[in-house]
Amino acid sequence: MEHVGIVGAGTMGRGIAYVAITHGVQVTLYDVAPGALESAAAQIEAWLGEATARGRLDEGEARRARDRLRLSATLEDLAGAEIVIEAAPENLALKQEIFRQLDTICPPGTILASNTSSLSITALGAVTRRPDRVAGMHFFNPAPIMRLVEVVRGLATSEETVRALVDLARRWGKTPVVVKDTPGFIVNRVARPFYLEALRLIGEGVADPPTVDRLVRALGFRMGPFELMDLIGLDVNLSVSESIYHAFFEEPRFRPHPLQRQMVQAGRLGRKTGKGWYEYE
Ligand code: NAD
Repeated sequence: MEHVGIVGAGTMGRGIAYVAITHGVQVTLYDVAPGALESAAAQIEAWLGEATARGRLDEGEARRARDRLRLSATLEDLAGAEIVIEAAPENLALKQEIFRQLDTICPPGTILASNTSSLSITALGAVTRRPDRVAGMHFFNPAPIMRLVEVVRGLATSEETVRALVDLARRWGKTPVVVKDTPGFIVNRVARPFYLEALRLIGEGVADPPTVDRLVRALGFRMGPFELMDLIGLDVNLSVSESIYHAFFEEPRFRPHPLQRQMVQAGRLGRKTGKGWYEYE
């Protein structure tokens, strides 16, 4: 594996790009939004600086990693990649359109992976002529730090594709877990009550976000549900909540909470907008 294409330079795309370039892989990072690529490059530069300052990378390694990153606003530039990892917004129609385009741009052997948190890998593969080479490669936030990667096997995904992604995750220092294509896979399925019950608590006025977060941290979790929603992005968290709810045919256990939508309507998306359940510098 020498060249990986990444679609979407947001929170996850830039994190995955950092992991790849610091493990010897050339990356073409693509985005459509003005400024997204520059912002991703600045963040990656900051991570490289931090890693050098802490002695995790020497100056030469950081320079070589930097040289492996290409930014592009042209999807066709991903044609030379052996694997493309899509990290665009959590919207099935949008992702299907991207997969349709990638299918025409990339040679038939290229693996097309999605970083989706909850959407059907089978539905993404179905819009391509290579559903056997379509799979999920679900990194967690922040991608440079979190070791778990869910490798998601769609109904038509081949064993060879699963093996290639498991090997790649291992080479990148990650811990891959192969999961079935089911709404939310394992982690986001298990995490539903973590967020939703906490939202119900504050919705009913039982406690406020800092209290719930403190209690959950006291139980041994690294972060409480509101801190984690702010890290993930409330827009992303709402999309994932809605996608899992609908995918289970409106199962009441998974019903999103009106407060999530209200926060998104207010533009309080968490750390990335400086304000969510908490305020940030
Ligand atoms: P984000 O909003 O931070 O970034 C999405 C990026 O995609 C933006 O830069 C946007 O400009 C770009 N984009 C929009 N339309 C595009 C298109 N047509 N082509 C290319 N780029 C396009 O979102 P994110 O948090 O990075 O999430 C991306 C994916 O990763 C989602 O599927 C999400 O569910 C998943 N995910 C997110 C997290 C998290 O904690 N944020 C964790 C794991 C997985």
